Amino acid sequence: MFLGHFAVGLAARPLAPRLPLAVLLAAPQALDLVWPVMVGLGLERARIEPGHLEASPLVLEHMPYSHSLVAALGWALLCALGYRLVTRDRRGAVVVAALVLSHWLLDWVSHEPDMPLWPGSGRYGLGLWYSLPATLATELVMFAAGAWLYTRATVARGPIGRFGWPFLAVLLTAGFLAAVLGDPPPTIRALLISVAVLIVVVIGAAIAIERQRPARAA
Ligand SMILES: [Zn+2]
Repeated sequence: MFLGHFAVGLAARPLAPRLPLAVLLAAPQALDLVWPVMVGLGLERARIEPGHLEASPLVLEHMPYSHSLVAALGWALLCALGYRLVTRDRRGAVVVAALVLSHWLLDWVSHEPDMPLWPGSGRYGLGLWYSLPATLATELVMFAAGAWLYTRATVARGPIGRFGWPFLAVLLTAGFLAAVLGDPPPTIRALLISVAVLIVVVIGAAIAIERQRPARAA
């Protein structure tokens, strides 16, 4: 998934008012932040095959360290402990763990059977990506719901809070539509670079928006 992961983070805003927006958006993507590093190091393998699935050209051959269920549990624990150590926010740490773990569940729904339970296990996936209309409908509805919950749980206190947030929402939606409907990236390297750029843009925008759009309960 793409938008679906961001949707889960946005929907969690009312549950943990102290969690920074950047963490809400990054935690559900944590496994996809580990993945480019593992591919870059040669520990995991993927290739691009245009037209492979209706909604994804990715053939994810081997990803035990970023995307097995056991690895996801480990990353969730690590992220939650790290957040707890830095902030002392116990409630936020529980939400961080749940957000990191949610990635595995949503990927299991989306992917063809390429998601291992542990390194070397059988691989599973319900295959939402086999269908382009189902992928578009699921992710757009999820994102709309997440965006609505986030908007309701926050209050704009300046122009960036008021206009920056809808701008980010439109940007993410456009990025999703380009990824699903546009030409596939020419190489895995090009894909990894675009993921890195997306991360920097989203984290930067989230930090700017947060200053002028605090949680209502904070
Ligand atoms: Zn993933």
